[in-house]
Amino acid sequence: MIDLSAFSLEGKTIMVTGANTGIGQGIALAVVRAGGRVLAAGRSNMDDTSRQAAALSHMEAPITPIFADLDPLMPPHAMLDAAWDAHGPIHGLVNNAGIIRRADALDFTEEDWDDVMGVNLKAAFFLCQAFARRVVQTPGATGKIVNIASMLSFQGGIRVASYTASKSGIMGLTRLLACEWAQKGINVNAIAPGYIETNNTEALRNDPDRNTQILGRIPAGRWGEPSDIGDAAVFLLASASNYMHGATIPVDGGWLAR
Ligand code: NAP
Repeated sequence: MIDLSAFSLEGKTIMVTGANTGIGQGIALAVVRAGGRVLAAGRSNMDDTSRQAAALSHMEAPITPIFADLDPLMPPHAMLDAAWDAHGPIHGLVNNAGIIRRADALDFTEEDWDDVMGVNLKAAFFLCQAFARRVVQTPGATGKIVNIASMLSFQGGIRVASYTASKSGIMGLTRLLACEWAQKGINVNAIAPGYIETNNTEALRNDPDRNTQILGRIPAGRWGEPSDIGDAAVFLLASASNYMHGATIPVDGGWLAR
């Protein structure tokens, strides 16, 4: 008999930020497929994710929407604490919500710097902190954190100064938090998606030259799908990865291997 329990999220509650669309939705649906319940945190409605999840699960409501605008001026502690009190304990946190702004570095504005760093790095850090505080305060609790990094955690890119800084930062932060929290029963790891079919990359896919260039460099020969990232997230949220701390796993069709 095959025992897949190390890859199961049965009985687990996972908070996923930005779960209404794209990679966050792919992660939420993968968590539900693995038997888990999702606290879908975001500022848009989660109806589409809830509808798709309902078709995958025997649970009555596998998705619970949680309002969260991860604006840097709104510290996320209150949101996480309220969600934990109402729906907890929370076993895992996926920091997926993210934005990007494009301009030459010579012209890059402070606003585009602050907005991106605020959501991609600052909000992610303080959500990790809020989650870890609850885990350490709860006798016997353990936790799993998965941060969503990028190819630009490893590479420079062009015209995306704050995005590259934030995604390089999230890889460093993942390592630091792993070192501080491993002995507190919290695993902190990250996934670096390659080129994935989402709203974020629609313009690139619609540009025939860029699309051909990108596809030509991906050894797998296709764009990634949100479910590709979701399945990797399930591994990092499940007990199968209990001895992993501080890793950033590329899920990129081989892009970095090229
Ligand atoms: P997406 O379709 O644009 O989704 C971004 C998500 O973040 C949406 O749910 C969005 O909510 C949410 N979000 C943004 N700002 C927020 C805020 N202030 N408060 C709450 N939620 C907010 O992009 P995606 O491609 O799925 O990206 C998801 C993550 O993967 C990001 O961290 C991105 O950097 C990373 N990533 C993507 C790729 C790729 O190829 N697509 C590659 C590497 C890394 P709204 O819908 O309400 O705006």
